[in-house]
Amino acid sequence: MSDHIGHWIAGRTVVNGGETGPVFNPATGRQSGCVEFATVSEVDRAVQAAKDAFPGWRGMSVARRAELFFDIREVFLRRREEIARRVTAEHGKTLTDALAEVVRGLEVIEYCCGIPELLKGEYAEQVSTGVDVHSVRQPLGVCAGITPFNFPAMVPMWMWAPALATGNTFVLKPSEKDPSAPAFMAELLREAGVPDGVFNVVHGDREAVDVLLRHRDVAAVSFVGSTPVARYVYETVTLQGKRCQALGGAKNHMIVLPDADIDMAADAAVSAGYGSAGERCMAVSVVVAVGGVGDALVDAIRQRIPKLTMGNGAEQVDMGPLISRDHRARVAEYVERAPAEGATVVLDGRSSTPGTDGFFLAPSLLDEVKPGMRAYDDEIFGPVLSVTRVGTFEQAVRLVNDNPYGNGTAIFTRDGGAARRFAQDVQAGMVGINVPIPVPAAQFSFGGWKNSLFGDTHIYGREGIKFYTHGKVITSRWPEPSSSKVDLGFPETR
Ligand code: NAD
Repeated sequence: MSDHIGHWIAGRTVVNGGETGPVFNPATGRQSGCVEFATVSEVDRAVQAAKDAFPGWRGMSVARRAELFFDIREVFLRRREEIARRVTAEHGKTLTDALAEVVRGLEVIEYCCGIPELLKGEYAEQVSTGVDVHSVRQPLGVCAGITPFNFPAMVPMWMWAPALATGNTFVLKPSEKDPSAPAFMAELLREAGVPDGVFNVVHGDREAVDVLLRHRDVAAVSFVGSTPVARYVYETVTLQGKRCQALGGAKNHMIVLPDADIDMAADAAVSAGYGSAGERCMAVSVVVAVGGVGDALVDAIRQRIPKLTMGNGAEQVDMGPLISRDHRARVAEYVERAPAEGATVVLDGRSSTPGTDGFFLAPSLLDEVKPGMRAYDDEIFGPVLSVTRVGTFEQAVRLVNDNPYGNGTAIFTRDGGAARRFAQDVQAGMVGINVPIPVPAAQFSFGGWKNSLFGDTHIYGREGIKFYTHGKVITSRWPEPSSSKVDLGFPETR
């Protein structure tokens, strides 16, 4: 939204006049501004600001931090549309979708308003004679977050809200493709009363990330993005003995059993496959038609697609453009290659895309897609829905479990027993039963399995609180000095 986006360090915008990257409005295809790229010096300044702010922030009473979170909630709620407009202008998703992402992020802020309860430790009296034990959770220090382009507001909120609530300070490195929303959120945090230096933003690409990953004053790193970068971030950070949660890409399967309501399943597949132009890590990208359901399901999906409207996300449309011209070309290639690989192109979005300068690509539908084809093996991250046909429920589960990704999956059926078996046996972190995009509510945690998550802690919810804190257990005794004696034995409790 702004022409020149600077870093946010110690409560103010920092512009160094050095290297910048272009920011586009994907709906027009025109450059709308540019964003500063941080060098070692700006990353150092941001980490130092966070380090300086840490003692005051962690020393603040939990009651006061909770009160501040209520204020943050008020500011973000009141100004949610302004955040959403920035998302739409640089990402391209519809304003409704952008608002929904802000509201899902707000739910994490609301969860953090309960931080006094979430941080509360345990106490056990008289574990041994005259000995009591209590546990606390304490902040790590300066935490860093690196986020993807597809949720420029919500994913940073998944990170900074629990990090700040637990008493850490934060440096965010958002995607360089749509940096305005995270830059604006920094101003909103200041407006809500968060002290300077507690939340900082540095923009840039790999260079800025590399400095953060190896910075000796950064205690932990949260990452969300593609699998190759997630793996690299996880390996680099953990090699230094630091904690890291790195969420990667996805290939989400939606299983449709023969007893499912076809219209309901088709509505869900179209919504979850083409919503946000398929640029969601929880998008359905493969519909698995089980038994004889394939023909009717493909037909039902095909009939719905022409009714979808596509255009500038700021207007009343169902679907906006893709993030960039390059990405659009990459997605279109999967449709181009599909027939040679043996798939059937039921609808070719390339032919129904109006000629504009925007990065638009209309929905495509592929049938008879199988493992080994590029359209099946790769995360396409665009409006291309593939249908794979299998004979049985067991084959469908095996297909999901053999996939290297394990983010989300869903099953559509009226059979409660089959749904329960699916939930039990399927190897994915988030499972929907007649729910196509099972993003967990804020009181749970978000995370996949296999190549969709490196590390063992999911993001936000209780696991987020755990990730951003050290556990500490204090054993105490207040004996009469007269009972003191030397005893070299290992302390027993009985
Ligand atoms: P990306 O991996 O290209 O970029 C993510 C972040 O890493 C950005 O801030 C980027 O600047 C930085 N980065 C890029 N290349 C880097 C490199 N070589 N070294 C260090 N840093 C680098 O991802 P993207 O294209 O912005 O986002 C889309 C991807 O994110 C998809 O794969 C999607 O599935 C995934 N995603 C996953 C989740 C999840 O929760 N699992 C959520 C949203 C998006």
